Amino acid sequence: MSGKTYDVAIVGGGPAGSTAATLLARAGRDVVVFEREKFPRFHIGESLLPFSMKAFTRLGLHEKFRRAGFMEKFGGEMCGACSDEGVKFYFEDGFGAQTDRSYQVTRSEFDKILLDHARENGAEVHEESSVDEIAFTADEVTLQVRPKSGPAHQVTARYVIDASGRNSIVANKFKLKKSYAHLQKVSIFAHYDGVEREPGRDGTLTRMVRAIDRWFWMIPLTPERMSIGVVLDAAVFRNAKLSPEEFLEQAIAEQPLVADRMTAASRVSPVHVAADFSYRNRQLTGDRWMLAGDAAGFIDPVFSSGVFLAVLAGEQCADILDIVLDQPRKARRLFRGYERTLNRAMDIYLRFVDAWYTKEFIEVFLNPQDFLQIPPAVNAVLGGNIGTSFAVRWRMEIFYLLVRLQKWLPLSPRLTLIPKAQRVNNEPAGALT
Ligand SMILES: Cc1cc2nc3c(=O)[nH]c(=O)nc-3n(C[C@H](O)[C@H](O)[C@H](O)COP(=O)(O)OP(=O)(O)OC[C@H]3O[C@@H](n4cnc5c(N)ncnc54)[C@H](O)[C@@H]3O)c2cc1C
Repeated sequence: MSGKTYDVAIVGGGPAGSTAATLLARAGRDVVVFEREKFPRFHIGESLLPFSMKAFTRLGLHEKFRRAGFMEKFGGEMCGACSDEGVKFYFEDGFGAQTDRSYQVTRSEFDKILLDHARENGAEVHEESSVDEIAFTADEVTLQVRPKSGPAHQVTARYVIDASGRNSIVANKFKLKKSYAHLQKVSIFAHYDGVEREPGRDGTLTRMVRAIDRWFWMIPLTPERMSIGVVLDAAVFRNAKLSPEEFLEQAIAEQPLVADRMTAASRVSPVHVAADFSYRNRQLTGDRWMLAGDAAGFIDPVFSSGVFLAVLAGEQCADILDIVLDQPRKARRLFRGYERTLNRAMDIYLRFVDAWYTKEFIEVFLNPQDFLQIPPAVNAVLGGNIGTSFAVRWRMEIFYLLVRLQKWLPLSPRLTLIPKAQRVNNEPAGALT
C-alpha cells in the first residue's frame, strides 16, 4: 500500500461503497476500500426496491442472494391505524415496472455479501480501518487511515468516493450538511420470531401502519423472522421518558394491526434506536471527490429508498470516475450530471415523504380510484421509478393535488387514524368529516 497512488479510494463498505468498488475493480481500476467495522455488522434498512434489481443483475449478485436465502418481496401494504385492513400494492402493477419483485434482507448478511463481492472482483478491501481525515491537493487526495491493529498511515488516490454513510466525512469537513427540521424522527425497532403473516405472496409484503403521530413497519425477513419498528418525532419519544424496550412494547400494544399478529411472537434481538434525521448536502461533488449513498443525503426511511439510492449512486460514481480517470476534462460536466440525477431522486422522495406525514396522504392512498391510472404511478415511485417518464410525472402531480384538496374537500373518507378500542364512544373510523 505504501508509496502507491490508487485510482480511487472509497471510504465505507456499505452498499454505496461496495457497489462502486466492484464496478471500478471490474473496469480494471486500482481501487481501495476502507471500512471502519468488521463485517458482518448490524445495520438497519432491510426492505429493498425493485428498481435496484437491474443493478444487482449487473453486479452479478442474484445467485449469491438466492444462496443466502433472502426473501423475495412482491409489494407492500399500507394501513390506517383505524381500519381493519389496508391497501395492498404489487410492484408488477407499477408504471414501467422492470420486475415484479425485490428482496427483504438481513442487512448484516447483505452488506457482507456486497463487500466480499467487491473483494472477489479485485478491489482491495481493508476492514477495521477508519479514515480519520481527508486532505486534497490539485492532483490527489490523501487519507489518514487508522487500522484497529497496526500503525496509522497515509494513503493517496486520484479520487475519493465518500460512502461513509451518515458519518459523511467529506460533507462534515466542508460543512455541507443541511438538515430538515420537520423530519427529526427517531426509529425504535427489533426482530421478532413467530409473527403471524398471510400465506403465499402476501406474506412477503412490507406492512406499514400509519397512526396519528407515528407509523410502524413490519418487514418479513425470513419465513420465521420479522423486523418491526416504529417511527415518530424524536421529541415525542424523549418526552415519553420510557426505555426503548418499554416504548416499543407499549407502542405495539396500542396498535391492533401490529399487535394482533404478535400474540405468539417473541423478540429475538435487542431493541435498537436510530435517529433518522433527514438531511442533504449542498454539494455532492468537488474537484477530487464524490459523495454517494447516505453520505450524500438521507431522506426519511418511510419509502425504503436508502439502499436503492446508495446502489444507484455507487453505480454512477464508478461509471463516471472510470471515464474521468482517462479524460479528466470531462469531470465537470459528468459531476454536474451526477448531482442533477441524485438531487432529482432525493427531491422526488422528499416530496413524497412530506406528503406522507400529512393525514390526507393516507386518506387518499387508502381510497384508490382507477381514475386516470393514478395508483400505478404512485406504485411506480414506491418501487424506485425516479425516471423522467411523463406518464408517471403528470399522474404524480394529480396525486399531490388530490392530497392537497383532501385537506379542504373530503374526496376520500376522512380517517381518525386511532384504533377502534381507543376511540371515544366507539365513533366510526371515518368520522370527523
Ligand atoms: C430506521 C431506518 C430504517 C431504514 N429502512 C430502510 C429500508 O427498509 N430500506 C432501505 O433501502 N433503506 C432503509 N434505510 C436507509 C438505509 O439504512 C441507508 O440508506 C443505507 O444503508 C445507505 O447505504 P450507504 O452505503 O450509503 O451507507 P451505510 O450502509 O451506512 O454504510 C456506510 C459504511 O461506512 C462506514 N464508515 C463510516 N465512517 C467511516 C470512516 N470514517 N472510515 C471508514 N468507514 C466508515 C460504516 O461503518 C458503514 O459500514 C433505513 C434507515 C433508517 C435510519
